[in-house]
Amino acid sequence: MACVHKSFVVQTNAHNEVIDITPTVEDLLATSGVKQGQCTVYTPHATAAITINENADPNIGVDLIAALKKCVVEHDNWLHDRIDNNAAAHIKAAIIGPSVTIPINKGKLTLGTWQNLFLCEFDGPRQRRQVLVSILS
Ligand code: ZN
Repeated sequence: MACVHKSFVVQTNAHNEVIDITPTVEDLLATSGVKQGQCTVYTPHATAAITINENADPNIGVDLIAALKKCVVEHDNWLHDRIDNNAAAHIKAAIIGPSVTIPINKGKLTLGTWQNLFLCEFDGPRQRRQVLVSILS
């Protein structure tokens, strides 16, 4: 078993934002030369997350943000707001989760036709959101 670790940085532009990172991850996979294995995409942040969802309609991302906003109300007497005023961002990141793992077949991510990879920003805008890509073969 071998593992290739790669990473890239995403600049976010809004307080809450869903950004398609599929092309960058596909490029990293292509340069790794790995044909069969698994690809884990992970973000090492407590107020950002990684998910897989529909790629065709950008409003899916808008709807995801709107749904999370309804579930996790900003500044709703969260205890953590007393420290740095971003408790809602932490809760949203915990709900979505920091990583996904995708099987690799014939050198490609086995994403479905309607699936892409997204970085979810919940406490932006930020200059540097790191994404780690671990390719296991
Ligand atoms: Zn915080």
